Amino acid sequence: MDIVYENKQSCCGCGLCAAVCPKKCIQLIDDKTGFPYPVIDQTVCIDCGKCGKSCIIKNGYEYFTETPDFYAVKHKNKDIVMSSTSGGIFTAVSDYILAQDGVVFGAMLDENLNPVYSYAETQKDRDRFRGSKYVKCSSAGLFENVEIFLKSGRKVLVTGTPCQVSAVRKFAKDHPGLLTMDFICHGTPSAKFFKDYICYAQSRCRKKIVRHHFRYKSSDVMWSHTEANILADGTVDSFSYISQLCKNLFYANANLNPSCYTCGYTNPRRPGDITMADYWGIEMVMPDFADKRGTSLLLVNSSKGRDIFEAIKSELEYKSSNLAEATAGHQKHLLKPNDPNPRYAEFQQDYIERGFEYCAKKFAPLTWKDVVKSVLGETIVRRIKSRLYRATI
Ligand SMILES: Cc1cc2nc3c(=O)[nH]c(=O)nc-3n(C[C@H](O)[C@H](O)[C@H](O)COP(=O)(O)OP(=O)(O)OC[C@H]3O[C@@H](n4cnc5c(N)ncnc54)[C@H](O)[C@@H]3O)c2cc1C
Repeated sequence: MDIVYENKQSCCGCGLCAAVCPKKCIQLIDDKTGFPYPVIDQTVCIDCGKCGKSCIIKNGYEYFTETPDFYAVKHKNKDIVMSSTSGGIFTAVSDYILAQDGVVFGAMLDENLNPVYSYAETQKDRDRFRGSKYVKCSSAGLFENVEIFLKSGRKVLVTGTPCQVSAVRKFAKDHPGLLTMDFICHGTPSAKFFKDYICYAQSRCRKKIVRHHFRYKSSDVMWSHTEANILADGTVDSFSYISQLCKNLFYANANLNPSCYTCGYTNPRRPGDITMADYWGIEMVMPDFADKRGTSLLLVNSSKGRDIFEAIKSELEYKSSNLAEATAGHQKHLLKPNDPNPRYAEFQQDYIERGFEYCAKKFAPLTWKDVVKSVLGETIVRRIKSRLYRATI
């Protein structure tokens, strides 16, 4: 069996090469860290070269050339803001597409907490896509289903990482019925890594985890990066060291897809008609617009994107912004990719040879802060945090 890519830094696992193969002889197979890579069955391959020509990295990252319009936005419906990651811009755009009898593609955790792509034709099904999942989602079936709906004349909204959106746009050859929405992207750990985390967390809390929120909001947890495990007995764990472990390893930057560290979309040149993000640092640049429930940063990158924004803006509170304001806070992935953890290679080797628990203890150990927090208790710590937050806006 041959490989399609040169090295792991030059393959994001988007699956476009497999989708365009006329002989369907390319399979995406997970490596030992759980990231999918294309493998060609040489006994069937006719050497047509379509796979290499389709590659979104090898052939240069494609993006809209117009200068984006920047906005700070919040959905007017505050229940939607509370159930979204930032200000609910995804719901506003997808509501518009659904109202046109369109179809929305997004990422969700299935009943076994596997991160997968799916599509929705109703608001109820679309709601499963709300909430960021900081993990790589399998693109199985994505290209085929997008093609079916576009051919049937339906409008299609595809949301996803910049690389996934870029691959879909290339696959659909910028079909007029296709609208794409990417996000400013930190990078993604593998699905295997997330599943290993869930197994470890379940073994530590001795209960089944039925849901995981990568960005949990509630009356006492406002817009921040707090994760939560919902246990089988209904308990919400959004405070313990274990509940925040996945996040702490995400920020350690040792477990992202190797191609994320050189990603060509960590800048204002965007592959989607619209780009969504958290408006980090809004309290510094627009204090009167800041909202502890969350605010989205929106980049409108194409004429299609501008038409949609005009159509949905009555659902939103919004303010014009610009690149300097948008990057005044912690929005570094609009400027550059993450640097790999200085001990990246060590982490990879440890993960393959010794597993999740060993890496977690070594790279995101329990600290004195976690111990102090557990002694003080959840309510006191949250009260202090919310006072400090209120003082900043
Ligand atoms: C892996 C990842 C990294 C991100 N990194 C940053 C960052 O560095 N800086 C920043 O400002 N914002 C980042 N975001 C975007 C941010 O978390 C919010 O998605 C964004 O603010 C939109 O908010 P909303 O309230 O409209 O979204 P929501 O209503 O919460 O909608 C979430 C949308 O994201 C899609 N989605 C969620 N998870 C995935 C996934 N794993 N793969 C593909 N699509 C997915 C859903 O399908 C849906 O369209 C990231 C998101 C993800 C998933």
